Amino acid sequence: MHFWQGLFLYLAPGGLMLAAALAALQHEGLARWLFGINWLLPPALGLVAVFLAWRFNRSRLIFGILVVLLADFLLRRYGGVAQIDQLLARYVFHMALLALPLNLLLFSFWRERGIVTGQGVRRFVFIFFQPLMLTALFGVRGPLIVRQLEGMTVHLPLIGSLPSPALVIWALAGLVLLVRFRSKRDLLEHGFFWAMFCSLLAMLAGDSARQSFLFSVAALILIVAAIEAAHRMAFRDELTTLPGRRALNEALLKLGSTYTVAMVDIDFFKKFNDRYGHDVGDQVLAMVAGLLARVGGGGRAFRYGGEEFTVLFPGKTLKEAQPHLEALRQAVAEAGFAVRSADRAGKSQSNRQKGRSSAQKVSLTISIGMAQRDAAKKTPQAVIKAADQALYRAKEGGRNRVSS
Ligand code: GH3
Ligand code: MG
Ligand code: MG
Repeated sequence: MHFWQGLFLYLAPGGLMLAAALAALQHEGLARWLFGINWLLPPALGLVAVFLAWRFNRSRLIFGILVVLLADFLLRRYGGVAQIDQLLARYVFHMALLALPLNLLLFSFWRERGIVTGQGVRRFVFIFFQPLMLTALFGVRGPLIVRQLEGMTVHLPLIGSLPSPALVIWALAGLVLLVRFRSKRDLLEHGFFWAMFCSLLAMLAGDSARQSFLFSVAALILIVAAIEAAHRMAFRDELTTLPGRRALNEALLKLGSTYTVAMVDIDFFKKFNDRYGHDVGDQVLAMVAGLLARVGGGGRAFRYGGEEFTVLFPGKTLKEAQPHLEALRQAVAEAGFAVRSADRAGKSQSNRQKGRSSAQKVSLTISIGMAQRDAAKKTPQAVIKAADQALYRAKEGGRNRVSS
């Protein structure tokens, strides 16, 4: 993946929304207007969240938004910057600062178990139990806890001052969410990361209007992440993470008068399934898809279906696209596929131990058929058909080759 694409993946949409919100607050008139609707945002966002969580079966959205809005409410009611000289206010502030990242982090690990199910109700109880427990703790140890935490204050440029235990928890929680997003590519995880960062800025805002507004932005970030996750489910193939057939059909409608289409098919793919099992077949698909995603020349790869892929080269002629497809074919052939011998060998201990160290390289190749739009092939369907026929010729010609 290219650097900018990678950066965009981590920023959009949560990071960009946060940046836009911070930029908007720089403008005095706009900020005043936004603070004017502060009262409206939490109930409106809450309603939208309930609706989306119900329709998309995303209870984590509800829980995430609930703790963000609850933190805002409790800080305005009992604590926060407005009454920072009172012990209770400072206690509420410090407890929220510790509890919020831990809760958001926990929710990101929660599996989808519904909202009005037994498990869902237990989760609500868990969330509302925390303020009660912390209130009880205040009666016993409140002054001591506040004094100790405030003795460990650190100052961060641009962000603000907070006790070092809180800083460690926020940093660790953020890191874990990033790593989880990296491995699972779940957009809700991404939303949790940016909502968490936005909440931190809200808590350290030093002004209650600014605090409430940024907490609402955090809730909005979660809502947008849930919508994006649902969109991705429809347009991306889960196994390969490549865009799927529906996305291909939309992309075909946006093509101009010059473009090249390549149909890619894995050679003798059935043998992977037959010899090593369906799971290994799936791994092969994901691995080839990874190489396809990195094809050069502005090519965009899609999973057409099964072990067949389509690469679109908008604005490119056959001649321009060919070297990139040739490079792709070569990259797959050179990579091969490593099958862990433990998968095939018996279950004896010695075999397994050997299996861990020795991976057997199996040959893996793809065949590619390509076609360019021209006067004889005017529609995308006709071009795809011609590419399919070229693919057939590549197979007939001995596989592991590019035909046009
Ligand atoms: P050829 O070189 O002629 O393309 O041979 P092939 O074995 O690749 O051709 P064929 O089209 O007969 O085999 C495709 C196989 O792909 C059949 C099907 O079981 C398997 N397949 C399709 N989708 C998936 C999938 O998502 N996962 C796995 N593991 N196998 C799949
Ligand atoms: Mg096939
Ligand atoms: Mg095949």
